[in-house]
Formats: sequence, structure tokens, C-alpha cells
Amino acid sequence: MKIVRRTDQPAENDYAKYRDALMEDFWSICGYCGKHIRVSRRGFEIDHFVPISTDETRKNDYSNLVMSCFTCNRKKGKKWPTKNKEICHDGKHGFVDPTSEEYDSHLGRSSSGSIEHYTKVGKYMYGVFKFHLRPTELVWKSMELAKRKQELYKIKNSSKLEKIELELFFEIQEELDQLLDHLLGKGE
Ligand SMILES: [Zn+2]
Repeated sequence: MKIVRRTDQPAENDYAKYRDALMEDFWSICGYCGKHIRVSRRGFEIDHFVPISTDETRKNDYSNLVMSCFTCNRKKGKKWPTKNKEICHDGKHGFVDPTSEEYDSHLGRSSSGSIEHYTKVGKYMYGVFKFHLRPTELVWKSMELAKRKQELYKIKNSSKLEKIELELFFEIQEELDQLLDHLLGKGE
């Protein structure tokens, strides 16, 4: 799923008012770790890609906002290593806007669902967000389960669910609950 920030968003004087539009543009997924709000227990926040402390003028600029989970937003904080509001990274340190074309060349996902980095900048971001310490694989698995659960839920509601599917539904439900409890324990 490609994240595209709308360009026709009317300007607001309070960035909190952009929340619904931003949530929609980001598919309810954290721009940095890829976690869906459905598998997040600590909620989402609006991150300023260029921090307010670096560029106050972009505080309410929609094109500077990233939908972020609580954990990623806390870890990014006021970090802006280039110290230049015009330059997001110098090829070694800095950040890449999740909506930019180049994002996938820096960070991606392994077949098992863990986050991996491909460049020096990717490695820098990986370190800032502490992906090596976070359950990115479990988050991915939870999202897959949540998706399957939703698919089964549709069948369940149309009352065409076979006994075996009903069992699968509860199995997935239980597995998902366990994973979510585990993730909560990990601060996600
Ligand atoms: Zn995140």
C-alpha cells in the first residue's frame, strides 16, 4: 500500500484537526514501523517530520505530518541530525519521509515480517526507532491475523460460517489476543 498525502487539504490553524485526513492517507498505519492502529494499544499521534523545534513554521503544514504510533513518535522526538530544516538526511544520518519515493530503498521488511535496513540512512532510522529491540515481526503477524479475522468475520456475519471456520475464528481470536497482550507488555 502506497502512502500518499493529499495535496488538496485545506489549511488549518491547529494540526490536530488534520487527524482524520492523515489517518486516511496513511491507511491507519504508522508511517515508520508499519503498525496498524488495530494492533496498537497505545494509540497513534501526529508526528512533525521536520520537528517543530527545528522549523516552527511547519507546525500546521499538512505536508510535514506523519501518522505515527506512540512508540515511534516518542523515539523520534526532536531528533534532526542535519540541523538544517531543508535537508532531511545527508546520506548517513537523518530521516526519510515515509511518503517519499526513496523510502523503500532505505527500509523494508524481510519475508518473516521483521524490519530491515538497506542504506546508511536506513540504518540510522532503524537505530532511532530501535527496531532491533521492538517486536516488529510480532506486529506483522498480528496484522496478518487481524486481516484473517476480519475476513472470517464477514463470513460469520453472513451466517455461512461452517463449524470448522468458526473454530478457526476463535483460534485466531485467541492467538491475536495473546499477541496483543505480548505487544502491550513490550510497550507497543
Ligand atoms: Zn510506529
